Amino acid sequence: MIAISTNRSEYRNDIAEEIRLFLGLSEIVLLEETDSSAVDLIFDLQLTRTGAHYALRAAAGGLEETDAFDLPEHASALVVKKLEKRALKLACYRLLKRLYPAVATPWGSLTGIRPTKLYRELTRDGGAEYAKRTFLDLFDVSPEKTELAARICAVQEPYIASVQPNEIDVYVGIPFCRTKCLYCSFPSEVLGREDRLTRYLDALKRDIAAGAALVRTRGLRVRSFYMGGGTPTVLSAAQLDELLSFILSQYGSLGIEATVEAGRPDTIDREKLLSLKRHGVGRISINPQTMNDETLSRVGRSHTAKGVRLVYELARGIGFDSINMDLIAGLPGETPDDMQRSCDAVLQLRPDNLTVHSLAIKRSSLLKKQLDEHPLAAAADAERMIAIGADCAASLGMSAYYLYRQKYMSGNLENVGYALPGKECVYNIDMMEETASILSHGAGTMTKRVFGAENRIERLPSPKDVPTYLDKLDRLIDDKASFFS
Ligand code: SF4
Repeated sequence: MIAISTNRSEYRNDIAEEIRLFLGLSEIVLLEETDSSAVDLIFDLQLTRTGAHYALRAAAGGLEETDAFDLPEHASALVVKKLEKRALKLACYRLLKRLYPAVATPWGSLTGIRPTKLYRELTRDGGAEYAKRTFLDLFDVSPEKTELAARICAVQEPYIASVQPNEIDVYVGIPFCRTKCLYCSFPSEVLGREDRLTRYLDALKRDIAAGAALVRTRGLRVRSFYMGGGTPTVLSAAQLDELLSFILSQYGSLGIEATVEAGRPDTIDREKLLSLKRHGVGRISINPQTMNDETLSRVGRSHTAKGVRLVYELARGIGFDSINMDLIAGLPGETPDDMQRSCDAVLQLRPDNLTVHSLAIKRSSLLKKQLDEHPLAAAADAERMIAIGADCAASLGMSAYYLYRQKYMSGNLENVGYALPGKECVYNIDMMEETASILSHGAGTMTKRVFGAENRIERLPSPKDVPTYLDKLDRLIDDKASFFS
C-alpha cells in the first residue's frame, strides 16, 4: 500500500494519479486515514505559501525534491489552483522518476485524458514554440509524443474553427452487448431479456423527443450525430430502423456527419447496413480489435477475423465509404508479431479510419481480476505494437487526427485515431477536444455545454446503469432543459 502525507490533501487525487503512472493499480491512501504499519512507501509532500511565495518539499524512499516559485501578480483563484497542483505533481513525478527509472513515461508527468487540448491551450497562450518547450522541458514529454500532439492539433484546426456557437452534436447510447469483452469497463449490459431492451428503447425515444424539442426551442442546430455503445447493432434490424426513423423525425437532420458504431461484426447484417444507409448514416465502425482468432476467443469476443472481412466487404458493397476499424495493442497473450498480422489484414481491407488503442486495465474489468492468468505485454512490447499500428496507418495514407489517454494504459501510452485526408470524424474531434456542446441520450452518456468564449465547460451525466436511467428519466429530461436554458 502507498500512502500520501501532505498538508494539501485537496490535491490527493492529482498526486495519486502521478504515482499510478509508475505503480499502476496500487492502493493509494492518505497516511492519516490508514494504519501506517500496512504502508510500503510514503510520499510526503508539503507545500507552504508565504504571501505570493511558495516553498515545496517532496520526499519518498529516502529521496527528496524541493521547489520554490512565486505567483504572478493578480493571479485568479483558478490560476493559483493550477500552479499549486502542477508544482505538487511535478515534484512527485521527479521523485518517482528517480525511484523507478525503468518505468516508461513517454507522456512525462502528464496524467490527463486530453494532451492535445493542453497543447492547443499552450499554443494559444504563448505560441507554438512555447507549447513545444513546455511539453518537452516542463512536463518531460518525449520528443515523439510532443511532435504527435503538435501534428494532431494542426489537423484538427479547421474542424475546431468551423464550430458555430449554436451548434451541438447529438449522441445516442445503446448500452447493450452480446457478450462482455475481458477488458471492458463500460457499464454495458449483456443482452438478456428482450423486454428490458424494449423498455430501454421506449425510454430512449422519450429522451430523444425531449432533446429535439430543446434544440428547436433554443434555436440550436445539429452539427453531427453519433450512436455508440455498447454495441448499437445488437438491436434487431427492425428496432434499428425504427429508432433511426424516430431520431430523424424528431431532429430533422443529423448534421454534416452521422456515425453508428457497428462494433462487433457478429451483430451486423445486410438488412441493418441497408437501414443505416437509408437513414443517412455515412460512417460506421467495424471493430476487429485483433485479427487473431485465438485472441478474439480469449478476450470474449464472439466473432472471427473471417467474420470481420465478410462484414467489411458487405458494407463496402452497399456503398459505405467511411469505415473505421479499431485495433487494441497489447491484448492478453499478444506479441508484436500478432499485432503485425492484424495490421497486415487491415492493410488488405483498406479502411478509411483506423483507431489504435493501448490496452488499459480498468478496475471494473474482468481482466483486472484475471491478471494472473493473462499477463500483460511488457512496456517495450506495448510501445512496439503501437508503432506497428502507426506504421500501418501511414501505409494506408492516414494521419493521426485525435488522441486520448486513459488510466493504467500499457506502457503509459495512448489511443490514436488515424484517418485518410478529409475522412476525420467530426464528432470524435468535437468530443475529445471539448470544442462543441453535446446533447446525449441514453444511460451512461454525458451531455456537455461548451462556453467557448469563457473557456468553460459544464457537464450533465446521465445515470450509468439502465434501471437507474429508466427510473430517473423524467428528472433527467427536466435537468437537460434547465441545462440548456
Ligand atoms: S463491445 Fe465494447 S462495450 Fe461491449 S463488452 Fe466489448 S468493450 Fe464492452
